[in-house]
Amino acid sequence: MTCKDLDLLLPLRAAGALAPDEATHVEAHLARCPTCRAEADADAAVLALAKLPPPTEAERRATAGIASGALAALRRADRRRRTFQRVAAGIAVAAAALLAVLAPAVLRRTPTIPPAAAVTWQEPDLDTVWEDAGLLDIEVTAAAATTSDETSDESDAEIASIDL
Ligand SMILES: [Zn+2]
Repeated sequence: MTCKDLDLLLPLRAAGALAPDEATHVEAHLARCPTCRAEADADAAVLALAKLPPPTEAERRATAGIASGALAALRRADRRRRTFQRVAAGIAVAAAALLAVLAPAVLRRTPTIPPAAAVTWQEPDLDTVWEDAGLLDIEVTAAAATTSDETSDESDAEIASIDL
């Protein structure tokens, strides 16, 4: 085992995470290599700084149920999510069914005239419509022309009678 091989193994040794056969090889190397021994001591010192004191009895009791509690909470949340999904799917199916039943009736319904419009409509006054169209004036003008013609006819007749 070379010094290069110990680059990863020394931190694992400091953390107490070496496999038994690895530990045997590492200890054999450290016995004959002062460089790696110094490196191993440095790793141990760094880990000792970060190492927490052993948990008290109260901490052990408080943290004992965390893993199983988190798992149970996860399962509860999953159950709630699945229940919500089932309810939402049920509502969607019911809405789709209702739409399928109602849509033809809504689409076939003929438009109805609003009652307000039906009440306010009145039969038009024909004289007003006639006057608005301006046709009455034409008739009056025509009548006036006829009258003047008659007048001229009359005066012609008068003239004729005079001549007679
Ligand atoms: Zn070495």
